[in-house]
Amino acid sequence: MSGGEGLDVLVVGGGITGAGIALDAAARGLRTGLVEMGDWASGTSSWSSKLVHGGLRYLYQLDFALVHEALAERGRLLTTTAPHLVKAQPFLWPLKHAYERSYSAIGVGMYDALALASSRGHRTVPIQKHLGRKGTRALAPALQTTGLAGSIRFYDARVDDARLVIDLVRTAVGLGALAANRTRVTGFLTDARGHVGGAAITDLETGAVHEVRAERTINATGVWTEATQDLATDAGGLKVLASKGIHIVVPKETIDAETGIFLRTEKSVLFIIPWPRYWVIGTTDTPWSEDVDKPVATAADIDYVLNHANEVLSRPITRDDIIGVYAGLRPLLQPRLKPGRSPEQASSTRVSREHTVTRVAPGLTAIAGGKLTTYRVMARDAVDHALGEGLAHAHPCTTADLPLVGAARYRALAAHAGDIARERGWTLARVTHLLDRYGDEVPALLATIDDDPDLARP
Ligand SMILES: Cc1cc2nc3c(=O)[nH]c(=O)nc-3n(C[C@H](O)[C@H](O)[C@H](O)COP(=O)(O)OP(=O)(O)OC[C@H]3O[C@@H](n4cnc5c(N)ncnc54)[C@H](O)[C@@H]3O)c2cc1C
Repeated sequence: MSGGEGLDVLVVGGGITGAGIALDAAARGLRTGLVEMGDWASGTSSWSSKLVHGGLRYLYQLDFALVHEALAERGRLLTTTAPHLVKAQPFLWPLKHAYERSYSAIGVGMYDALALASSRGHRTVPIQKHLGRKGTRALAPALQTTGLAGSIRFYDARVDDARLVIDLVRTAVGLGALAANRTRVTGFLTDARGHVGGAAITDLETGAVHEVRAERTINATGVWTEATQDLATDAGGLKVLASKGIHIVVPKETIDAETGIFLRTEKSVLFIIPWPRYWVIGTTDTPWSEDVDKPVATAADIDYVLNHANEVLSRPITRDDIIGVYAGLRPLLQPRLKPGRSPEQASSTRVSREHTVTRVAPGLTAIAGGKLTTYRVMARDAVDHALGEGLAHAHPCTTADLPLVGAARYRALAAHAGDIARERGWTLARVTHLLDRYGDEVPALLATIDDDPDLARP
């Protein structure tokens, strides 16, 4: 699109948002660059609850549009764009009183109905199932029986968040994007009229500074948004507050259950999420005003998670069971306006409950907020905004059905998982593990192993 040697779009930040934007822009045929100061997904995007979900709790706030949008994205990821990475995940919602059942069933029922509507009548996960005490205990013997009236089983999905980011980056690179991690934006190239025409980037391994010219630059740096935009201007842009969420990790044998467990808490919700070898339990929601590079869990955070999980578990989890704790920061948005401007005058700002896109300066767009699940919608909105109406119309978003690397032939290959296991003398679990990680790139992996059999060792 640009006539010169520079990029059409330079994206700053290699979390889910920036990686999604780089793919969106590259898929539109734009010359795209992506820089990340740490490793891919090293910011918030590897410390999430790792759920691809519509957000059942938003239904109780009657935010149907938000849930509908997220469920549509969940369906797309499960079926088309990343079926190798994103897996349907059942959760049991334990009920203490019989009267809770109708209240919970209405919410879950609406969740199922919205999921069906958002995927044009095609069911991507099973619908809710009501279980009595016996059925609940059969699926989750770990649940306390005293005060247990039964449960509702509903479905969401889970994903290895960091791997999703890496697959987005690799797909973008496959479409011609340039991507560099350990590369930090340390300044913007601004002309006398304040127009941003690219960025100064520092290679953090060599210290070398390069100038990258770009028609449009998009700031997707999550909780670093303000620090990044301050390099260009001290007026306007987004104001992002950090809210901390923590998770604890316990070994699989600590909790005897075949499904995840969902609990409502006085503040929000708590998930007990199964992974092949561990349970991930969280999360919390507390303000964080310390260094955004180093969020940490406090003893009080850990107590909060333990206490809520132990309300329903027959054998309480203790600190001795915990083998890992991690903390991440949600980028929460607040309006930040140019001096003397009222909110109504900030016309270039597109605010939604979940994410916001705004023009920080001519040539520089910022996006923040949202969640992992809706990264594709955020990316589309950010690129549309950066291009402006006319160009966005000429170069429309094409990611709705675009498979990420590993996705396109995953199902066909997965149907032969048993054959691969037999041929190799491996367990089916091992082959499934590789397929759920590398999708249709498994044959390339097997070819590498044929060249160097040592690589087959787990
Ligand atoms: C505890 C918790 C649980 C969550 N659970 C879920 C969930 O289950 N499902 C869901 O859908 N969402 C979830 N979310 C939300 C989701 O994780 C975030 O919305 C999302 O990861 C934010 O991604 P991001 O790309 O905007 O930010 P980040 O992932 O933080 O990416 C920003 C990147 O910018 C880089 N950067 C900063 N400054 C510069 C610079 N100057 N130059 C170059 N690079 C720079 C940083 O290193 C960072 O990697 C959760 C969030 C939290 C905190």
